[in-house]
Amino acid sequence: MKPTSIEDKLAVNKYDIDKERHIQIREDICATCEAHPCLYACPADCFKLREEHITFSYEGCLECGSCRIVCDKEAVEWALPRAGFGICYLFG
Ligand code: SF4
Ligand code: SF4
Repeated sequence: MKPTSIEDKLAVNKYDIDKERHIQIREDICATCEAHPCLYACPADCFKLREEHITFSYEGCLECGSCRIVCDKEAVEWALPRAGFGICYLFG
């Protein structure tokens, strides 16, 4: 059966997580951000708003680059994971 929900679709991806973070956010800059467009742009829900602070976890990243594009404060330092690491789509 084909996956239908976003969670189902994400569940068929395989990750070989690079211990070296390929995305870093500048929390000092995020603290000055009011609109938080990254919260709405990230398809993998890697950004969370907790008690008015943005937190970020890179482990579920889909490598789409949306966060880098929507962040107009240049708070996202972004690179692809190292070769051999990252996401394999539709693996399961
Ligand atoms: S849009 Fe940029 S500055 Fe604003 S919370 Fe997200 S990463 Fe931080
Ligand atoms: S690259 Fe895409 S999936 Fe990864 S954190 Fe940014 S918006 Fe989310």
